[in-house]
This record gives sequence, structure tokens and C-alpha cells, in this order.
Amino acid sequence: MLKIVPYPHPALRYPSKPITQFNGELKEIVREMFGLMYEARGIGLAANQVALPYQLFVLNITGDKESPEDELVFINPEIVKRTSTARDEEGCLSFPELYGKVFRAKRVRVRALDLEGNPFEVEADDLMARAIQHETDHVRGRLFIDLLSPLDKLAIGKKVQGFEKAFREAQERGEYAGDDELRRQLDDLASRSPV
Ligand code: ZN
Repeated sequence: MLKIVPYPHPALRYPSKPITQFNGELKEIVREMFGLMYEARGIGLAANQVALPYQLFVLNITGDKESPEDELVFINPEIVKRTSTARDEEGCLSFPELYGKVFRAKRVRVRALDLEGNPFEVEADDLMARAIQHETDHVRGRLFIDLLSPLDKLAIGKKVQGFEKAFREAQERGEYAGDDELRRQLDDLASRSPV
């Protein structure tokens, strides 16, 4: 059973490992990730956000589970071209109710593998380009709050501290292991990568 883990769970800072096996377990993980994403009303979800240290994210920019034809799976994603920039608001399922304006490339070309392990490339712009950049950052252990302006970072400081406090309290209650143990689990999963 996967679940979306909140900031500052160490998985969110973990540089994930590439996937090299494309089996039923991988398909099961992807199915579960789409389910969690729809439930949380998101448009994208990276494996890091469910505490899995694999280079994988799912996307459906309609956010509508009745629109499965818009579902995309990116494995071992790499942005190979960035064009122009745009600043717009972003949120993240690891930071519920937190939003901030982030500069991103307006248009990107991304190279990835699909669920069968076949390489593909897509060009995307605007919302989809933004989502691809946000999710590709996740699998590198980077977060959108890193990209806010100094002023915006100050403005959200209290909320971020709130997330930190809530997570530490959840650890004290035993809902999550301590950071060292969580990192050990991530290392363990990553060493057994592919899933
Ligand atoms: Zn996110």
C-alpha cells in the first residue's frame, strides 16, 4: 500500500535510481500512483512522493480519472530541450495548500521510457511543460519551494515550518520512522532497484 508522504519526508530529497526492469510490479505501482494522484486531486505524481526511490512519474493534466487516454507515464525522464521561460503558480501534493510562483521553461522536450521500456520523446508547453519539469525535479530530489524568489520563500516560511513540525510530530507518534531509518529504507529499496 503506497501513500503520499508529506514534506520533509527524506524521500523527497532522495536522488532516485533509474528503472531497468519493466515488470508487473512496476505496472502495479503506476496504477496505484494514478489512484493516489486522482484521490488527492493532482495532475502529476512522482515515485519519490510515495517514498519509492525510482525515476518514475505519472501525469494526467486533465486531473480526471474518467480521462485515462490522457494518462502518461515517464520512466527515467530527461529534459533534453528547454525553450523560453514563464512564471506561474505551482502547488505540490507533498505540500497541501501551499502555492508559489516559479520560473520554468515555457516549452520542453523530454526523453523517457514507457511502461514497456520503450524510449519516447514528447514536446510540451505551458501547463504540461511545467508539470513535466516539476515532476522531473522530484525524481532528482528537488522541490518547487527551492525555486521560489527569496521574497516568496520568506512569505511561505511559516507554512513550511508548519509542515516540518507536523512531520516531526508524526514521527514521534510512530507514524513514520526517524529520518535515519527512512533513509536506510530508501537505500535498501534503491539497491534492489529495479522495483
Ligand atoms: Zn510536487
